[in-house]
Amino acid sequence: MRRIVLLFGPPGIGKGTVGASLSEKWHIPLISTGDLLREQVKCNTSLGEHARAFMERGELVPDELVVEVLHERVSQKDAKDGFILDGFPRTLKQAEMLEGVFLAGDERIILNLEGSPAVLIERLSQRRICSVCGAVYHMTNIPPKQDDICDFCGGALVRRPDDEPAVIEKRLRVFAEETKPILDFYRGTNAVYTINADGTLPETLQEIDRIVKWS
Ligand code: AMP
Repeated sequence: MRRIVLLFGPPGIGKGTVGASLSEKWHIPLISTGDLLREQVKCNTSLGEHARAFMERGELVPDELVVEVLHERVSQKDAKDGFILDGFPRTLKQAEMLEGVFLAGDERIILNLEGSPAVLIERLSQRRICSVCGAVYHMTNIPPKQDDICDFCGGALVRRPDDEPAVIEKRLRVFAEETKPILDFYRGTNAVYTINADGTLPETLQEIDRIVKWS
């Protein structure tokens, strides 16, 4: 039986940060479709070339491309006992496609992280990532030891192109219009846990511990 967790919530809510902690605790890999796509862009693959323009504009990448990278990733050995998905599904079509990935007996939950718009905008504008290893920082809450240098690999910290203010606005709109409605798709399954993620990481993790009941 695999344990499958869908992390649901707007850009900036902390899906990546919360997901990394849960991945350690629950011993299943965190799989972010955004990271998988950024990797393709970085390696200049044809899929990456195609995805790049959508990502830079803050728009969703076409379903077939995202499903292709995801399918390849969840087939790897480390995902055999389950995985945590960050940023997928984002459209109803993706949610339907995901049904084809599940196996009979898989246990799945949806963690619906919620927060106020002001907190999301603050977190996205303060976010920096390492241009080499992808480690994520928040300039006030999780700053690097040395200005603009990654603690882990010494790489330069940069702002993601889609964390520019105009693109942030667009991404939040895309979430509200295209992604939020898919929560309804899962409502009937009794597997949706809604968590307020405005607070600190320990507070959010505590809340998840308190309310998530694995069978
Ligand atoms: P994220 O790192 O999750 O914020 O994703 C960054 C960008 O990658 C998004 O704004 C989209 O352009 C693209 N992306 C990531 N996941 C998906 C997905 N499931 N469907 C479509 N586009 C995606």
